[in-house]
Amino acid sequence: MLNIVLFGPPGAGKGTQSERLIEKYGLVHLSTGDLFRFHLKHETELGKLAKSYMDRGHLVPDEVTINMLKSAVLEQKEPKGFIFDGFPRTNPQAGALDQLLSKLNTQITLMLGLEVEEEELKTRLTQRALSSGRSDDADPEIIANRIAVYHRETAPVKEFYAAQNKYVAINGIGTIDSITERLFAAIEHHQ
Ligand code: ADP
Repeated sequence: MLNIVLFGPPGAGKGTQSERLIEKYGLVHLSTGDLFRFHLKHETELGKLAKSYMDRGHLVPDEVTINMLKSAVLEQKEPKGFIFDGFPRTNPQAGALDQLLSKLNTQITLMLGLEVEEEELKTRLTQRALSSGRSDDADPEIIANRIAVYHRETAPVKEFYAAQNKYVAINGIGTIDSITERLFAAIEHHQ
């Protein structure tokens, strides 16, 4: 199996690039942000709980997030591999994912980290707010909060995979196509 973690701060382009990777490698795309937004839309109990965190730009608690992700993984029948987008976002989430995959006799192949500097992220998120309808994109204070949470809780996950020699940094600045080429090259190089 090919199991990729697509990593990077909010606005780095994970969603856009995920679509390219799924198409090329036939992977199952699991975005915890999308899963939460699905629950929000359908007003499930999980959705109501997640909303209270998402609206403030905070992370949803690990236990809740891990359980949701586990069910989504176990639902798949004979997947070729996964692309994890927006997960893991904390070290406990990364540990739980390793455990889950080892039960399925597989593991993370690579973490691809899209690197984009802060000013560019803020511009992209403000721009995305115009079309996404996401309230967490519309408010500069919430954007700043998400970036702060990223630095504090999520950035350390990079070290978790670097310690396993699985972290590859990808320059996230450039055209969408050129960034896709960089991601493909990193995967081909590894195989
Ligand atoms: P972004 O574009 O900011 O990366 P996402 O669509 O991935 O946003 O996620 C939106 C929100 O959903 C996050 O700000 C957070 O509140 C919640 N969320 C998504 N993934 C996770 C996760 N792995 N752990 C905790 N909370 C999460």
